[in-house]
Amino acid sequence: MTRLIFLGPPGAGKGTQAKTLAAFLQIPHISTGDILRQAIQDQTNLGMQAQGFMDKGELVPDKLVEDMVKERLQQPDAITGWILDGFPRKVTQAEFLAELLTSLGQGGEKVINLDAPDESVITRLLGRGRKDDTEEVIRRRLEVYRDETAPLINYFTDRQKLLTVNGNQSQEEVFTDLKNIIAA
Ligand code: AMP
Repeated sequence: MTRLIFLGPPGAGKGTQAKTLAAFLQIPHISTGDILRQAIQDQTNLGMQAQGFMDKGELVPDKLVEDMVKERLQQPDAITGWILDGFPRKVTQAEFLAELLTSLGQGGEKVINLDAPDESVITRLLGRGRKDDTEEVIRRRLEVYRDETAPLINYFTDRQKLLTVNGNQSQEEVFTDLKNIIAA
C-alpha cells in the first residue's frame, strides 16, 4: 500500500516523476492540474470556473480542487494506493486532506519534496511550452509556490511525513532516488 504526495516547485519535474513512479508501482497518478486541464478541454462547469485562475498562474479556489480530490480518492482504483501530484498546494488543503483521509480510513501517506533551485525550474518551465508557461505567468506561479505551497514543507516535516529528493539531477537519477527512498 503506497500513498504518496508529491511536493515541489513548478518545473522540478514533479509531474514526470510522479507519473513514472505511479506506473512502476501500479497505482493511480492523480494530478489536479491534469484533471483541471482536461475539464477545460471538455468545457465542463469545473473547467470554466478554473480557467481564469489557471491562465494567470493563480490557484483555483480550494472548494473546486477539494471536491475533485474527494471524489477521485473514492474511486475503486484508489483503494490500493495513489500518488497525489499538485495537491495539497496550501495549508488549508493539507488540513482538508488529513480529515478526508481519516474519514476514508486511508492513512500512512508520505510526502516527497522534490527540491530544485530557482534557476533550473525557470529554465525548465520556459522550455516546456505549455499554454500557462509564459514568463509572466511562470513568475506568478513561482511566487504562489513560495507564499502558499512552500510552507507545506514545514507542515509535513512537523508531522514526520516529509522525504526530500534532489530534483536537480538527471531523470534517471531522480527516479532511482525515489525508488530507494520509498523502499527504505
Ligand atoms: P500543475 O499542473 O500542478 O502545475 O497545475 C496547473 C494549475 O492548476 C495551477 O497553476 C493552478 O492554477 C491549478 N491547480 C492545480 N492544483 C491545484 C490545487 N491543489 N489548488 C489550487 N489550484 C491548483
